[in-house]
Amino acid sequence: MEDWPYTLQVGYDRYVVPRRHGVIWYFNHSCEPNCGIKGTRIIAERDIMKGEELTFDYSCDVDWPGFTMPCKCGSPACRKVVRAYRYLPASVKKKYGDRVAPFILRAYRNRGMNRDGTRG
Ligand SMILES: [Zn+2]
Repeated sequence: MEDWPYTLQVGYDRYVVPRRHGVIWYFNHSCEPNCGIKGTRIIAERDIMKGEELTFDYSCDVDWPGFTMPCKCGSPACRKVVRAYRYLPASVKKKYGDRVAPFILRAYRNRGMNRDGTRG
């Protein structure tokens, strides 16, 4: 089997290995993405020009504390390092709202945490 280091987190103890050259293969990370997660789908968050790169924020699909990836997306909002959802600034969590992986939404609801990191 060929090495394929990429996985998608679908639960706090569950990951899937995307099919090589499947749809997810064509998405890259951006700190200012043109797509977002809605339930189990990735949807366009705005009009996307023909030929434009498809992006979503990987932090919306990862909440493993050890996740870290350098970012050079070029956005004025670039965080320079992509980390787990839990480390997103409250303003970014608020911007994304429910546009995060379902397992993250469930976890934060079950912990009584607001997604901006406050209790309530
Ligand atoms: Zn970035």
